[in-house]
Amino acid sequence: MMRIDILTLFPEMCSAVYSESITGRAISKGLIEIHSRNIRDFTKNKHGSVDDTPYGGGMGMIMQAQPIYDCYLSLCEELGAKPHLIYMSPQGKVLTQQRVKELAEIPNLALLCGHYEGVDQRVIDKIVDEEISIGDYVLTGGEIPALALTDAVARMIPGVLANDEAVQNESHYNGLLEYPQYTKPAVWESIAVPDVLLSGHHKNIDAWRKEQSLKRTKERRPDLLEEKNL
Ligand code: SAM
Repeated sequence: MMRIDILTLFPEMCSAVYSESITGRAISKGLIEIHSRNIRDFTKNKHGSVDDTPYGGGMGMIMQAQPIYDCYLSLCEELGAKPHLIYMSPQGKVLTQQRVKELAEIPNLALLCGHYEGVDQRVIDKIVDEEISIGDYVLTGGEIPALALTDAVARMIPGVLANDEAVQNESHYNGLLEYPQYTKPAVWESIAVPDVLLSGHHKNIDAWRKEQSLKRTKERRPDLLEEKNL
């Protein structure tokens, strides 16, 4: 079974999110294990602090190497193995659906969440396998990025979604955006659902959806089509 460990200063913030909804159900069904580990529990500082001012001067505080390293070592000990450790960072490679699919194949993922102005470079160099960003903007901490990654990975695990096929047509899964979707009623505010969807003719419906999917991708994300060579 896949296991994800989030190394964080805010474990309750993480568990509040992953224990709800679809990830919460996946945990209860035993399809995935998700834990958060409090970096502060590993500080050797008598005041319980985990950060200090940057060498060379400048604004803000930097997370110290020692508590993060000891938190990581205690996880390695518990697992009896080294997890694949990802540092959530705006300097990392931007996460894609393709990378999400690959990460879902790794049995032990650990996600390091930075805070304040970041993390002492020495511990990054020593233990981090990969840095991942969730986009070219800066958040105050790595928790939301780690939760975004966890959510995206969890829904790739067979059985987590009610219908695994639903994923295949989804935006980004095959490098395209999904076609528009409609539900009841057939007419709302005098706007009707496209006729073809009411026809019951599956071949025509599939063709229409494929065409819409291409059209949308071309209009909204031509860069995706270039990547796909379409
Ligand atoms: N000073 C750092 C820099 O300029 O690269 C930014 C630090 S940021 C305020 C604090 C923490 O939030 C980072 O250590 C990282 O863990 C997380 N973070 C912020 N933006 C992120 C993003 N786009 N993707 C992933 N993690 C992010």
